[in-house]
Parts: sequence; C-alpha cells; structure tokens
Amino acid sequence: MPSKTDQRLHALTTATRLCFQRLYDADPQLLVAAPGRVNLIGEHTDYNDGFVLPVAIDRHVVLAASPRRDRYVQLYAADFDQACTFSLDDIEHDSGTRWSNYERGVAWALQEAGYELPGLDIVLSSNVPIGSGLSSSAAIEVATAFAFQLAGNLPLDGVQRALLCQKAENEFVGMRCGIMDQYIISLGKRDHALLIDCRSLDYELVPIPAGCALVVCDTQKRRGLVDSEYNTRRHECEQGAQMLGIPALRDIGAEEFRTREAELPPVIRKRCRHVVTENHRVLDAVQSLRTNELARFGELMNASHVSLRDDYQVSCVELDAMVQVAWEQQGVLGARMTGAGFGGCTVNLVQEQDADRFQQKVASGYTAITDLEPEIYVCKAEEGVRRLD
Ligand code: ADP
Ligand code: MG
Repeated sequence: MPSKTDQRLHALTTATRLCFQRLYDADPQLLVAAPGRVNLIGEHTDYNDGFVLPVAIDRHVVLAASPRRDRYVQLYAADFDQACTFSLDDIEHDSGTRWSNYERGVAWALQEAGYELPGLDIVLSSNVPIGSGLSSSAAIEVATAFAFQLAGNLPLDGVQRALLCQKAENEFVGMRCGIMDQYIISLGKRDHALLIDCRSLDYELVPIPAGCALVVCDTQKRRGLVDSEYNTRRHECEQGAQMLGIPALRDIGAEEFRTREAELPPVIRKRCRHVVTENHRVLDAVQSLRTNELARFGELMNASHVSLRDDYQVSCVELDAMVQVAWEQQGVLGARMTGAGFGGCTVNLVQEQDADRFQQKVASGYTAITDLEPEIYVCKAEEGVRRLD
C-alpha cells in the first residue's frame, strides 16, 4: 500500500502530466518535484550569522517540461489557469503574471552565471500552500532551475543551484531572503533535517529518528507588521553585537552571554538573549537527533517558542493559542511558532501514531479560542528536488 506521501505526489504528478499532454499535445520529457519546507528550530538566527535546522516536507511543486527548438519559455500555471511566454534573450519582470517572475528570475540568474539555457515548454502545479510560510516560492525556483539543468545538461551542484535561486528571488523578484529555503529544497534528503551554518554556508544532513510526524499548523492569521518589526529586530541585534564588541551574535556563547548581558540595555538584552540561546538550542537539537532523544528535541522546541514569545516578542495571540493547545495534547513532543512571526504557522513534533488525533484536537481547540479555522498539515521529512519518472 503506497504511503500518503507517495499517493499525494502521484496524484499531483498525474494531473500535471495530463495537463501538459492536453496543452502541448505531447508527453513531457521530464518531470521534477520540489518540496516545501519548514524550519524545525533556529528562528531569527539566520541574519545573525547563526544556525537553522529546516526540513523539506511532503508537499510539492511539480513541473512537467520539454525543451523547445527556439529561445522561448512557455509557462502554464495550472493552479491559476494562466499562461505566459518570455524570450531567453530578453527576460523582463512581468507585473501581469507576477507568479512567472520566479521562473523568469531563475532563467535570468542562470544566464547571468554564464549557463546556456534551452527554451522550454512548462506546466507547473503545486500542493504547497501559497503564502503560508512553507516556501512555495523557493520550491518553484528550485524546480525551475532543476528543469533547466536537466534539459540543458548544466553542470550545477546543489549548492550552486540554491545560491542562484536565492539570487533570483533577491535580485529579480525583489524579495530579500536568506539562503535557508533554497538550500533545504535543493539539498534535503528524505528522513533528514539540514543543519545550515548561515555564516559559512556549510551544511550537514541530520537523520530524523523514525516514529514521529511533523505537523504544521497554519493559524490563518496573516502576518501583519512583519516588515517593520523585522527591520527593528535586525537593528537591535546589530546594536547588541556592537555593544558586546563582536562581529555578530553568533560570536558569543550562551555561558559568556550570561556573564555579560547586564552590559546591554533591557530591550536589546532580551533580543540578544533570544538569538544567543536559540543558536545554542539548534546545536543541542542536532545532538539530540543524533542520540535519538526526541523528548529532548521537543523540549528545545518549546523553549524556542517561549524565547520568541517573551524575549524576541514576535509571537501573537493566535500563535500562542495554537502552541498552548498543542502542548496539552497526547503524543506531542514539542511545539513552537515558526517563521518570522506575528501570524503564519507553528511546527509540532508528534508521535506518529497520535498525529491524526492531534490534528483534530488542535483544530477544534484552536477554533474554540480564536474563532479561526486553522489548516493543519501532517508531514514527513521529504527528499529535496528530484527528477520523477
Ligand atoms: P511562500 O513562499 O511563503 O509560500 P511567497 O509570497 O514567498 O509565499 O510566494 C508565493 C508566490 O509564489 C505566489 O504569490 C505566486 O506568485 C507563486 N506561487 C506559489 N505557488 C504557485 C503555484 N501553484 N502556481 C503559480 N505560482 C505560484
Ligand atoms: Mg516565499
């Protein structure tokens, strides 16, 4: 009996292939799947040169493609029922089909790096929820880069692919983002998390012990305030590092910070305490995966939430309610907000046999408090981008 993961991906792939056949009157020559992602622990550490620990999840962008003889890329977004075409010789930003700027940006970044691209016919569809913080955008970028790579025989490794996709999002789409999303989607492995050092960009795959589910709960509270608060937090961290006389908050250990935190004014002290302790928690969390101590891992997730709520102050009523309800459930190992904050999702580590019940209980408990209907996704740690067929 195929797993839920396989069934879901198979259904999406079949629909995408059929759509391609209808539209272009031929079989696609290649099919690729790129997963969404969730960050298990390590929040607001990336811009402090610290550590993050994301996993790829079994929700995917699927792309069916065939090379063309000319220099055009013809795109169809099945979920939006919209098409567009652009020339590889003149890649422009398009405000009419904003969704196509991810594909355009990737083609642009690959060509900027000197790669010769073939024209492509593409159909794109996805079951990564859009705008929920599971990185549907980076999944599209990495899927597109991989399709060009396969069709054009480009000698790109996973790290180069990720960096070029990040460049596409930063410079072409115009969205400032770190490297986490493109790294995990490009380099992830099934049943593994990816420890990323955001300073050196070194990475390490860490096996996730069997028997647990990753449950993502979308509060349905859309993130307000994020940009201004995000910039304020960044600035406070920079100020803190400067006052401590270090290049970045990465450069002080939790022990030393405790002896020196009184040097900082109260608000900056709290912000820095979160970042310093969070980096420590990520490394501890990696250790606990290695030694198969899932309960310990869960405690670190819980401590991360408390730190984000009280010291970094980026949670909100809805995130706190979702986490609180989760903490009360049977089989939960850990629960925390994930992403920038002020709305969006929580991530939960749950004993596999309790996952369905957890999903129901958290949904009803959360609705009772907030009157909002959450979306809840029970996920597995999935392979990074790959070719299907
Ligand atoms: P997130 O990456 O958190 O899901 P973003 O706002 O960064 O949210 O990216 C969402 C954008 O990515 C959408 O507005 C759309 O332009 C593009 N996108 C996501 N999913 C699809 C899809 N299925 N088809 C076409 N474009 C998509
Ligand atoms: Mg995104």
